[in-house]
Amino acid sequence: MTDAASRPVPPAPPVPVSRAQAGAVRRGELPGVEEVRHGVWSVAFEFGDGIDDHSLGYVVEGSDGALTVIDPGWDVDRNLERLEQALAGVGHTIADVELIAVTHLHADHLGGAEALRRASGARIALHPAEQRALAERTADAAAADDDIARWGAPDHDREALVASWGSGRRLPEVTADLLLADGDELPIAGRRLRAVHTPGHTAGHLCFVEPEQRLVFTGDHVLPRINPGIGLGGRTAGNPLTDYLSSLDRMVALDVAGPDALEVCPGHEYRFVGLRERAEALIGHRADRTRDAAAALDSLDRPTVWQVAERMSWSGGIASLHGYRLGSALAQTEWHVQALGRAGELRPA
Ligand SMILES: [Zn+2]
Repeated sequence: MTDAASRPVPPAPPVPVSRAQAGAVRRGELPGVEEVRHGVWSVAFEFGDGIDDHSLGYVVEGSDGALTVIDPGWDVDRNLERLEQALAGVGHTIADVELIAVTHLHADHLGGAEALRRASGARIALHPAEQRALAERTADAAAADDDIARWGAPDHDREALVASWGSGRRLPEVTADLLLADGDELPIAGRRLRAVHTPGHTAGHLCFVEPEQRLVFTGDHVLPRINPGIGLGGRTAGNPLTDYLSSLDRMVALDVAGPDALEVCPGHEYRFVGLRERAEALIGHRADRTRDAAAALDSLDRPTVWQVAERMSWSGGIASLHGYRLGSALAQTEWHVQALGRAGELRPA
């Protein structure tokens, strides 16, 4: 799930480590299986619901031969076949998969976990906030309907907003076997692959880092070209925007300069080096948005969230956004206003 407003971040996108993946993105094709390191492979998974896109999952081999799959992709049959073929190509079978580690609850990452668990007997691991969001999705959806009523969007947009952003929104139904908190090591023999809690895109988003291999699996938290949306899973008492910025700061702190720089294995697009610069660019993008929101508040008297959003920069303009993407844009607008400490200037519901 990507941001409603993917206006280009001014600095150039990071240079891909995998030219094949970058080329596949350009051509709109699924890249082939790639060996990232000894015992680490990337596998592309197609989207469902007729959406022409793909995600990237990863297979990690332990010293005992057991496999972990990070983000098994959307729940479509062809993805399980695709994984089986990928594993056969490296001398494994589905039965070798013992752990399914999921960065976040979206259908393009968690969706296929249940089918893979059934096929392999593997355990599913998630952050507790992600499990909570799945359990509380009905209450969250009802609260989102209240947000939609408050935002002041045009009447003709309301129904689609409720269907896609509010109570009509669907999430995979999964119960995890293992909960991973910040700093927990994944149970993989011979590896030190650690979970890093990076809330923002969703409340329980995890990245996984293996410093010895100079690898970081970033899910949708940091992507090479796309600006991830925020607050797209799990309501919290906090502000997803400030959470996201703190999580980007963690990425800046995690990376090291020079030959030890981490290679980023993202959930979409292509592998790259330059985590620090990319995280800083994403922080800069959010600072631009916050300035947009401040300028809109300065020029309007008691605006609705919709009226503030109308004055912010969205690629294609706010009128081009509908349904889920519009919901995301309006929610983000409200969080930018809240982060400025100026929520009191909005028109009361
Ligand atoms: Zn995604």
